[in-house]
Amino acid sequence: MMKMGNHFKSANLGVTGGFGKITPPKTSTSSSNSSTATTTAGTTAAVIGATTTSKESTYPKDCPPDVNELGRSTWTFLHSLAATYPPKPNETQQNDMLQFLNIFSKIYPCWWCAEGFQSFMEKPETKPKVTTQEEFGKWLCDAHNEVNERVGKPKFDCNLWKQRWKDGWEDGSCD
Ligand SMILES: Cc1cc2nc3c(=O)[nH]c(=O)nc-3n(C[C@H](O)[C@H](O)[C@H](O)COP(=O)(O)OP(=O)(O)OC[C@H]3O[C@@H](n4cnc5c(N)ncnc54)[C@H](O)[C@@H]3O)c2cc1C
Repeated sequence: MMKMGNHFKSANLGVTGGFGKITPPKTSTSSSNSSTATTTAGTTAAVIGATTTSKESTYPKDCPPDVNELGRSTWTFLHSLAATYPPKPNETQQNDMLQFLNIFSKIYPCWWCAEGFQSFMEKPETKPKVTTQEEFGKWLCDAHNEVNERVGKPKFDCNLWKQRWKDGWEDGSCD
């Protein structure tokens, strides 16, 4: 049986799960906002609240991911999923997405993140919305903002999710 040291356990499989050990981030505190530090002027505009303290991962790139590295990659995947979701999905496509989200929320390899995401999806007012691409994209943005809020990061303006993840910024900086 795997050890439970430092509160680590796999996402949903208790202490015997088959996932690698996802560690809390090794951090250094910086005074700049991570989004503003790393992305375009458009992203800066998309972030509400300019001066918060953020924690950048200092984990080496070629080591197993910590919670930040895993999170960044996963949000890229999830928002890209919304960006390529049909504008008007049929019933099968909607059901597939709901099923995916349900399974994803159980197996995400950071157990406390998975629990937070499950709670968000279970609340009647924040249940997954998948009837159109626009609705799904905004719901995911809200879900991401809920995590941002919990971890002390600035909220993202969800009116801009499509520019960030699908079309590129109106100023042409992604062209
Ligand atoms: C499902 C899930 C649950 C998580 N739960 C936790 C948790 O409980 N505790 C924890 O410490 N970490 C959690 N994380 C990780 C956390 O969300 C971040 O990924 C991590 O802190 C790294 O943050 P970051 O500043 O690099 O940017 P990220 O938050 O990873 O965002 C990447 C990029 O997405 C864009 N963005 C930011 N907010 C939004 C938004 N609302 N909508 C659209 N685009 C946006 C910005 O351009 C940003 O640079 C979770 C990740 C996932 C996928």
